[in-house]
Amino acid sequence: MEDLLNLPFFTDDQRSFARELDVNARQHKWPDPEQDDAAALKSALRTLGKSGALRHAVTEPWSMRANVLAREVLAYHSGIADLAWAMQALGGVPLLIAGSEAQKQHVLAKALAGEYCLGFAITEPDAGSDLSRLALRARKAGGEYFITGEKHLVSNVGVADYFVLFARTSDDRRGVSAFLLSTDLPGLSFELQRPLSPHPLGRIIFDKVKLPAEALIGKEGDGMGIALGTLGRMRTTVAAAANGFARRALDEALRHAMGREMFGKTLAEQPIAQGILAEMQARLDASRLLTYRAAYEFDSPSTGSGQAATRIPMQAGIAKWQSTENAQWIIDKALQLGGGLASLHGSIFERLYREIRPLRIYEGASEVQQLVISAEMLKKAGKSND
Ligand SMILES: Cc1cc2nc3c(=O)[nH]c(=O)nc-3n(C[C@H](O)[C@H](O)[C@H](O)COP(=O)(O)OP(=O)(O)OC[C@H]3O[C@@H](n4cnc5c(N)ncnc54)[C@H](O)[C@@H]3O)c2cc1C
Repeated sequence: MEDLLNLPFFTDDQRSFARELDVNARQHKWPDPEQDDAAALKSALRTLGKSGALRHAVTEPWSMRANVLAREVLAYHSGIADLAWAMQALGGVPLLIAGSEAQKQHVLAKALAGEYCLGFAITEPDAGSDLSRLALRARKAGGEYFITGEKHLVSNVGVADYFVLFARTSDDRRGVSAFLLSTDLPGLSFELQRPLSPHPLGRIIFDKVKLPAEALIGKEGDGMGIALGTLGRMRTTVAAAANGFARRALDEALRHAMGREMFGKTLAEQPIAQGILAEMQARLDASRLLTYRAAYEFDSPSTGSGQAATRIPMQAGIAKWQSTENAQWIIDKALQLGGGLASLHGSIFERLYREIRPLRIYEGASEVQQLVISAEMLKKAGKSND
């Protein structure tokens, strides 16, 4: 951790925050989600809330550097703690961007304390990477909205008190609106879907669910901007989580390689293993530098965007794409160095191997990031040719 914190990207407050979180996260016995993922998530969330660890996740001004440090630290120690942090931010940021004072006051203070659990529901069976295909309809009648249909692959199903829900209020391109959805409304039901690594995930089914006008976040038609602004912020933090998983895998692999004897020396003394370890370190360093560059530029007034910025598409896209792909590679090599025992259920390598996989798919798959990056490149090149 210190090698990272010595880089010139951070303020002293951010360094202290990361050190304190690291010490606390190392000492805490995080719950095991394999038995009961929902209970583990709630318990992790309460711990984060009580310790003040969520203070940068659901408050403005949003410090991208503090938030990426938080996710790298938490992912290193516990995937479920990182997930609890991430979902609070994913559900809280839309309210920071466009919520009414009443919505913020009602939800964010309790979310910050870990008392309310949040979620973000946008994906539908026919609308994942391509959000223009969003079809769930919120029909307005008598000042209220009525919703029938479904969302799927939504994290924190069965656990969240509130979801930020995205639904169509008209057919045109700007016809998506965001709503604050309380999960105890009549007509709502939930069905669990089982992901690769333990994680409360599932479908939300709406049967004539009635939402009051006050549930609307921002104005009708603001939804897609709120969703993309939120995902734009979160993308750099997903990169940081990937780096946390990868750093853990590298530390564990190094420890194992230094202790494992074979062919008259340790595994760490075998030249081929040394080459693999060197490449793991180089890829991790590259990922972290890309992630902290994106975070620094997000926070920096010199980018021309400052605290009001919700998107740094090119830098965030590069950080997420490269960090998640590199982390998958690093974890795979760590498991390889660990050998047969590392592949058994319950080993740290096996856990990380499952935990890293969805990060290359959600919040913009790697291929979507490539599209975003190339679109930015072409825009820039077009401008410079003018
Ligand atoms: C563990 C987990 C948690 C999740 N949590 C949430 C949540 O909390 N809330 C929520 O709303 N959603 C959530 N999702 C859903 C997630 O956001 C979607 O799975 C993701 O957006 C991809 O959509 P899709 O699954 O429909 O895949 P598709 O859109 O069908 O894409 C399939 C694949 O096609 C490739 N692809 C996509 N676009 C292109 C392209 N232009 N060119 C080439 N290849 C391309 C990518 O490899 C992609 O993986 C979660 C998913 C997982 C796995």
